[in-house]
Amino acid sequence: MSASPRTAPPLRTWLEIDGAALRKNVAFLRATVKRHARGGAVPQIIAMVKSNAYGHGNAIVPELLRRIPDAVFGLADLDELRAFRAAGWTAPVFLSSPVLPEELEEALTLRGWPVLSTRAEAAILAKAARKLGENVIAEAHFKVDTGMGRLGLPPAEAARELDAILKKHPNVRIVGLLTHFARSDDDDGLTRRQLALFTAFRKQFPGIPWHAANSAALLHHPRAVAGAAWVRPGLALYGLPPRPGDARHLHPILTWKARVTFVRKAAAGTTVSYGATYRLSRPQTLATVSVGYGDTYPRILSNRASVLIGGVRCPIRGRVTMDQIVVDASRVPAGKLRAGAEAVLLGKQGKEEITADELAKLAGTISYEIVTGTSLKLPRVYRNFPS
Ligand SMILES: *Cc1c(COP(=O)(O)O)cnc(C)c1O
Repeated sequence: MSASPRTAPPLRTWLEIDGAALRKNVAFLRATVKRHARGGAVPQIIAMVKSNAYGHGNAIVPELLRRIPDAVFGLADLDELRAFRAAGWTAPVFLSSPVLPEELEEALTLRGWPVLSTRAEAAILAKAARKLGENVIAEAHFKVDTGMGRLGLPPAEAARELDAILKKHPNVRIVGLLTHFARSDDDDGLTRRQLALFTAFRKQFPGIPWHAANSAALLHHPRAVAGAAWVRPGLALYGLPPRPGDARHLHPILTWKARVTFVRKAAAGTTVSYGATYRLSRPQTLATVSVGYGDTYPRILSNRASVLIGGVRCPIRGRVTMDQIVVDASRVPAGKLRAGAEAVLLGKQGKEEITADELAKLAGTISYEIVTGTSLKLPRVYRNFPS
């Protein structure tokens, strides 16, 4: 796809996305879904590629399609759906955020599945469908709140709404029932209670396909998989573990790199970067690296995170600035330390690795935000993708 940084003019900071790792994650998820289906019909995958594929770039979509020919794609909103269709991709799309009333006609025209949870929303959808034609049927998914508390109504109210929708709106077809887990990464009790509520709910509407599992539930709650029509993994597709123990099965597909631009031996007493927040207590070899908060490398990582140079961890000294950071490269073998050398901010180099979870912990956030937060302006280099 994109030229390699060796043949192109040198990039200052860039992301590399590894197709081989993506294929491994897909294979692992497909095998897990199949195993958890317990001999029944194997649920289809809704590949959650909202927010520019969690920051990795929609350029991975064709490879996902090659590996999962019957994939549905999960997007957040109409803007993302427009871009998806403009790229020429015809696969079904599930929209995980509610579509605004004035957006519904276009969403239907672009064959996006909206999510709704009340008869009032269904009435607006029915009207939008009628505007498009007498015989147009609007397909939608119906969401019930079992504990996430974001979209949908609790089961008893939801059942009354869905009954009314099924009776009143022949031009609205509910093609899926869903719920979403609040803590499938760290609370099996709550997840089981949510699943029990959802199971009781959906049994009142037999015959309507259903889905519930995000990555963590797909991996750890077979009952959210067996019997489902779909599963909705996001995080795990990108090789990021929902729970620490999942890391051994998954392969992060993202590496974030930047170049060393300047190296010097600094004396004890030297202070580093804005605010002089770091003072050398002994001489160090300092390397300046061409990335900063202007590239969405979080400033909160000042004096906290490390980068890899020559396969060695180099702690950040002083504050992250707009387009540069300074690291202690004293342990890097001299031959590997020069202007132009690659520094890895996120990902593997040699035997060392900086994970999204490591940066997330240091930044007080979650891996999702670290990868999704990578600027759209960062060049993305796709490696090991068939051209
Ligand atoms: C984003 C999203 C997912 C994917 O969750 P992961 O934890 O990334 O697997 C699944 N379902 C819904 C409704 C979502 O919004």
